Amino acid sequence: MNSRIVYGPILSRRLGRSLGVDVIKNIGSKKNCNYDCIYCQLGHVENKIPGPGDARGAVTPKEVAESLQTFHKGVEDLAYITFSGTCEPTLNLSLGEIIREIRKVSEIPICIITNSSLAGRPDVRANLAESDLVVATLVSGNEETWRKIHRPAPGIKLDEVVEGLRELARKEPGPKLALEIMLLESADESPLNSTEEEIEGLIEAVKYIAPQEIEILTVSRPPAEAYIVPVAEERLREIAERFVSEFGKEKVRLVLKGKKKARSKVSHQDPEEEVYALLLRRPCTFEQTVKAQDVGPETLRPILEKLIEEGKIEEIDSGDEKYYRAK
Ligand code: SF4
Repeated sequence: MNSRIVYGPILSRRLGRSLGVDVIKNIGSKKNCNYDCIYCQLGHVENKIPGPGDARGAVTPKEVAESLQTFHKGVEDLAYITFSGTCEPTLNLSLGEIIREIRKVSEIPICIITNSSLAGRPDVRANLAESDLVVATLVSGNEETWRKIHRPAPGIKLDEVVEGLRELARKEPGPKLALEIMLLESADESPLNSTEEEIEGLIEAVKYIAPQEIEILTVSRPPAEAYIVPVAEERLREIAERFVSEFGKEKVRLVLKGKKKARSKVSHQDPEEEVYALLLRRPCTFEQTVKAQDVGPETLRPILEKLIEEGKIEEIDSGDEKYYRAK
């Protein structure tokens, strides 16, 4: 198993059971990203990657296909093979070719989760267009707010991102485009992106892009900046209603914390490595890890203790909850 490339199986509220694929290897850092989002669950990005040419450790189509061939046979009823993990997948310009290689060995639908930063580039859009589903982040229709939230590498502009996403949504045949609208509030009460004015701006941007799906959500794990707090459920419902009135209820999905998904069958090849791989991608509470990995508490407890002892993970407190996070 090459755990640096293929992770999983992961159970998520949005996609069901999927196998995660990292297309940029971790080299001395947990994150390979061109953003440094204030809400990032993986902490700060020490060195933002300026562009695809600067991404070290990009994996090859052959490496992915080989890793996947041995890995996905141990998992039943996978909904997706998902590109996300500890990197921004579009930074690997071989992504389209990687997808074509995967299609030779698997019929499982392919999803790319992207921060949207490079959607303005035709080569990146062509890569995204090879997938079945693109889940793309949009946090604001206002450049200043968008910069404040994402803290992007130099050269990335909101208008180019929006134009690129619009092109992608119109591509025929093309993948389904789901916009993920991450809403935030600040503990110091400085406005972020859930104010009335921001919501109106977001609705205008979404109308222009015309995606097939819209997901409204807020932070549910410890963010990079301690002042970030989740938007209250009542306000989230209000905002979702506003989107429903514009786009219809078939298109809009409100993602609330703690919504349960049905379990399915997984045979674990290396439970310890799989738990560590999950925590590399996102911090989880004990219960979240049990659900995501489909393991019993009695199996999980010694694994977490061992990983802590080996210095691979740490416990962190966030609000009333205790999370486990890769170090
Ligand atoms: S949230 Fe995603 S896009 Fe933002 S810094 Fe973290 S990994 Fe990068």
